[in-house]
Amino acid sequence: MKRLAVLGHPVEHSRSPAMQSAALAAVGLGEEWSYGAIDVAPDRFEQRVLAMSGEGFVGANVTVPHKAAALALADDLSETCREIGAANTLSFEGGEIRADNTDAEGLLLALPSSPKGKQALVLGAGGAARAVVWALLREGAAVEVWNRTELRSRNLCEELGGEAVVDPDPAAYDLLVNSTAVGLDDEDPFAELPLDSKGFSSRQVVVDMVYGAEPTELLRAARAAGAATVDGIEILVRQGALSFQIWTGREAPLDTMRSAARL
Ligand code: NAP
Repeated sequence: MKRLAVLGHPVEHSRSPAMQSAALAAVGLGEEWSYGAIDVAPDRFEQRVLAMSGEGFVGANVTVPHKAAALALADDLSETCREIGAANTLSFEGGEIRADNTDAEGLLLALPSSPKGKQALVLGAGGAARAVVWALLREGAAVEVWNRTELRSRNLCEELGGEAVVDPDPAAYDLLVNSTAVGLDDEDPFAELPLDSKGFSSRQVVVDMVYGAEPTELLRAARAAGAATVDGIEILVRQGALSFQIWTGREAPLDTMRSAARL
């Protein structure tokens, strides 16, 4: 049996086990491969990962709060995860750990059109925002970053590029990306973020990395104004499909993964 898992803390809310197990079954690997969830606290993370290849694991996804720790443990890093400073995909081979980041490419694949030349506002300065800012800058968008704790957005922009902003006008952007955790616990995005529920327009693309309620309050308001929207499940599917391809060498069955992730 070739084993895969998502490592997080907490992790029981993750849709990755359902999504990846459905994908393995759909390509005929359901009998030989398995995908589970492992809840591991930060102080046990290194020990847990180092034991995995001896337990039959060939790979793992890594989620909050372990993405930076995963990078630090790897013997071999992709250029993308080195530049972003976080890894979400590990592969175990020949006693070595390889780290990749599929969050950035996953976001780009989920967008309805290229962000090249677009004015983008990224909300947040945590691990998700780092991948978003890196990806949008690489594709040639003009990126501004707002974060509740201003020092973090300034530090992020100093490191990756983009411009930190304190009081953005949301109507001025072609692309708005919520990569904060707001909405995860039913917070009101229009109270916590510099957004106006009536301020969206049909020329905008609005992305909400948060998934749970479908659609989120933020995406509901954006859709009502005619904006194109991308939800957190689509981004989850896209990053998961890239991880699946890294481990199995097979093309990922996107529609199967979407249906399983949305259940
Ligand atoms: P993180 O590193 O913990 O960062 C959390 C971010 O949210 C910080 O910028 C934080 O601001 C902000 N924040 C939290 N509560 C806030 C509030 N009440 N008002 C304003 N800002 C607030 O987390 P992360 O890894 O970046 O993840 C962020 C979100 O993206 C999570 O909901 C996660 O589930 C989601 N995500 C989704 C996918 C996907 O595939 N769909 C992938 C990755 C992440 P401060 O700096 O001020 O604390």
